[in-house]
Amino acid sequence: MTDPLLLTPGPLTTHPQTRAAMLRDWGSWDGEFNALTARVCARLLEIPEGANTHVCVPLQGSGTFAVEAALGTLVPPTGKVLVPDNGAYCRRILSILATLGRAAQALPFAEDQAVDPGAVDRCLAAHPEITHVALVHCETGTGIENPLHAIAQVVAARGRGLIVDAMSSFGALPIHLPDTPIDALVSASGKCLEGVPGMGFVLARRDVLADCAGRCHSLALDLHAQWRYLEETGQWRFTPPTHVVAALDAALTRYGEEGGQAARLARYRENSATLSRGMAELGFVPFLPATVQAPIIHTFHAPADPAYHFPDFYQGVRTRGYVLYPGKLTRVPTFRVGCIGALTPADLDGAVAAIRATLVELGVRHCRPEAGA
Ligand SMILES: *Cc1c(COP(=O)(O)O)cnc(C)c1O
Repeated sequence: MTDPLLLTPGPLTTHPQTRAAMLRDWGSWDGEFNALTARVCARLLEIPEGANTHVCVPLQGSGTFAVEAALGTLVPPTGKVLVPDNGAYCRRILSILATLGRAAQALPFAEDQAVDPGAVDRCLAAHPEITHVALVHCETGTGIENPLHAIAQVVAARGRGLIVDAMSSFGALPIHLPDTPIDALVSASGKCLEGVPGMGFVLARRDVLADCAGRCHSLALDLHAQWRYLEETGQWRFTPPTHVVAALDAALTRYGEEGGQAARLARYRENSATLSRGMAELGFVPFLPATVQAPIIHTFHAPADPAYHFPDFYQGVRTRGYVLYPGKLTRVPTFRVGCIGALTPADLDGAVAAIRATLVELGVRHCRPEAGA
């Protein structure tokens, strides 16, 4: 039996060549592995054209480790962070800041509404004590895209620092550091770059990071220390996820061969359009308006039909070869379907067919949500 396709935003379906790159062992002190790390970092910096201004600091762990490292290293204990909040990952940033004991202020938006740059501007004008803004670019909790470029202009014009959780957007949505001022951009191996999970990375402005010595609350998450050690020795400070780095290198080779960011976005857009069309034909109602939907992950309202239960629905689709993702909204029942990973529009057509067959099997006749949802 073949492995199921993951319609989840990380871990996601990877290409066989990416997985094959993990079939050897690497010594973490070996020159060959150091060269691999250097190559991966250089390639990551190249994607947003950041090599002249930014440095790439890789970090062991899932994406959240890198977000926590960026906040803990860049925001001083006297700082205060504005967090535009339109979803679960924005609230994760607020939890991290609370844990670190850093002052924070949420700027709430509805979960189906993109962050408004004008509102960020007004908030920064009213609160001179705010030193940083922490923005989630694509809020994976729903799939909404926030207007990064416009917000970056506002934050820079007000002279504050910007930390971006670009976890589920980097590599697919365009981010151009030469004209989008960002102090630290955080992403990870196992999202739109289509590597396996296990390492995050932060593209940090060199001059900003250079000022952050000794600031981090944590030994292991200290990005400044990780950067300095890497510069001095070519090595990670602690045991690196060697196989993950090798897989990311292979994934980046594929990324280049595919045609880089523009080609990846084009494929994800096709996947996304195929999914939207197919689900609309089945009668599913998307949670987000099309104008703010990123081609990364879609949230659909759960059918109100009494025959629908997510665990059975999930299992039926799973048996047919596709792994769905539960919803992350507390207010309304939803589920999510990712469009990223080594998937093509034909795979999304297959997923829609599996969903259709599962609905028939379960006796779900209508996919409309509860009235008022
Ligand atoms: C995946 C993701 C993260 C990191 O989550 P982990 O569970 O630590 O991998 C952070 N922010 C966003 C927007 C994400 O999509």
